[in-house]
Amino acid sequence: MKKQIEKIIQKPARPGMVGDGFRVFNYIPAGVTQQRISPFLLLDFNPEYDFGPSARVKGVDVHPHKGFETVTIAYKGAVEHHDSSGNHGIIHPGDVQWMTAGAGILHKEYHETEFSRTGGPFEMVQLWVNLPKKDKLATPHYQALTAGTMGKVSLPANAGIVRVIAGTFNGTSGPAATYTPVNLFDIRLNKGGQVQTAIPAGHNSALLVISGEVTVNDEAAPVHSFVLFGKQGEEIAVSASTDAVVLLMSGEPINEPIASYGPFVMNTQEEIHAAIKDFQAGKFGVL
Ligand code: MN
Repeated sequence: MKKQIEKIIQKPARPGMVGDGFRVFNYIPAGVTQQRISPFLLLDFNPEYDFGPSARVKGVDVHPHKGFETVTIAYKGAVEHHDSSGNHGIIHPGDVQWMTAGAGILHKEYHETEFSRTGGPFEMVQLWVNLPKKDKLATPHYQALTAGTMGKVSLPANAGIVRVIAGTFNGTSGPAATYTPVNLFDIRLNKGGQVQTAIPAGHNSALLVISGEVTVNDEAAPVHSFVLFGKQGEEIAVSASTDAVVLLMSGEPINEPIASYGPFVMNTQEEIHAAIKDFQAGKFGVL
């Protein structure tokens, strides 16, 4: 049975700046509540934008996260990061950083130095994935998922390619280890191409149109729109009338209370207060 589209959320009227290096439009939670789209907590999208050449590196300085995972997907440009666990890396186009903040981490995210110097098109997504209560205090770590490690499915009739970041697309699995069942597919369609897949029963699911013009289950989804699927049905078909890129996400809902305050997402207000105190006391480490 074909999935119903619950709503198509248009690109918000204006972007928000995260630091001075990420010009993002927010779809979760601005367009759909964290409960409704569980396990996803936040979706920020920086559509292609050229910040111009800069001698000073743009980005967001040291900040904490606790109780969930941040997933950074680079489409264009390069994002560099440092964290309080001693990790450092560069996320190039096609790469994904899957960071488990868990018990608490400090990090900073910014344009890679050489990219910053030259400027050029920058396009990226950051998705936050909740952790179940039993894993909220997991030791912080991250998975540097490079482009070459993605699951790759070439679609028939030169329709395009599906890069599987997490979960399984039509039998091909992605490299990300997740705490609860999550599918995350970077789908690149050629003009005239079509893709079909089925979402596991019970998953919440949605799709972001990164670029191009697509039709999703017979409804036109404008560029930069966000398609929220209903809970019934499984089948999703996307067809492209231009070259197009879409990000398809689904996940098993975590049916636990959500207490959310900025970069801290726990189950109770008491845990949020404790997280703020711990952060202020320097217990998230040093960066
Ligand atoms: Mn962050």
